[in-house]
Amino acid sequence: MIKENLNRIKATLPAGVTLVAVSKTHPAEMLKEAYDAGQRIFGENKVQEMTAKSQVLPTDIQWHFIGHVQSNKIKLMAPYVSVIQGVDNYDKLAEIDRQAARFNRHITCLLQLHIATEETKFGFSADECTAMLDEGKWKELKNITIGGVMGMASNTDDDSQVRGEFRRLKQLFDTYKEKYFSDSPEFNTISAGMSGDYELAIEEGSNMVRIGSSIFGERNYNINK
Ligand SMILES: *Cc1c(COP(=O)(O)O)cnc(C)c1O
Repeated sequence: MIKENLNRIKATLPAGVTLVAVSKTHPAEMLKEAYDAGQRIFGENKVQEMTAKSQVLPTDIQWHFIGHVQSNKIKLMAPYVSVIQGVDNYDKLAEIDRQAARFNRHITCLLQLHIATEETKFGFSADECTAMLDEGKWKELKNITIGGVMGMASNTDDDSQVRGEFRRLKQLFDTYKEKYFSDSPEFNTISAGMSGDYELAIEEGSNMVRIGSSIFGERNYNINK
């Protein structure tokens, strides 16, 4: 089932779009099934859960942390995480850099932008992000790379609203690319789109989709608690 789901989704992704298999709440055996079907990039949103899985699964997996980043948990994932997608202030970037340096590693960070109308979603406002980039202190952080942006659209059936939010994320990416990262080929990722809206996200410029339930099925949040 997982293998068929993965293959069906991958067949719809244009070249150049990276698939992050969002495996939160699912047991390691299900991730192994996806791994055996060729998937190497997994997304998790709880640090302890991701760490436990990373310890029992093959070491060539790239772990993406897609949850809300808490500063005190960064050191727990610093030894192995590839990409931290939900960075929403400078202090977290600096702490990720500090912890990456302790383990002699390099961690890619995506700037999470608040594009949805809901107030509960985390992320920089465009103004906050611009101010942080303008200030320039991030240029001194040698153990992180700012790899692009990440965003979540509003949870609504209104496709035109969702489309507009993804378009805004792409516009911000383009603005930042031109203004701050024109010499940085590694600033190249727009992480947007989940099971319900990834086609729209890709049409609006996403090149990294984070898909969970369409691969692994519905989540039962009580299972691992
Ligand atoms: C859970 C989650 C996803 C995947 O959601 P699905 O609807 O299951 O595809 C994507 N991104 C983030 C940040 C998530 O927390």
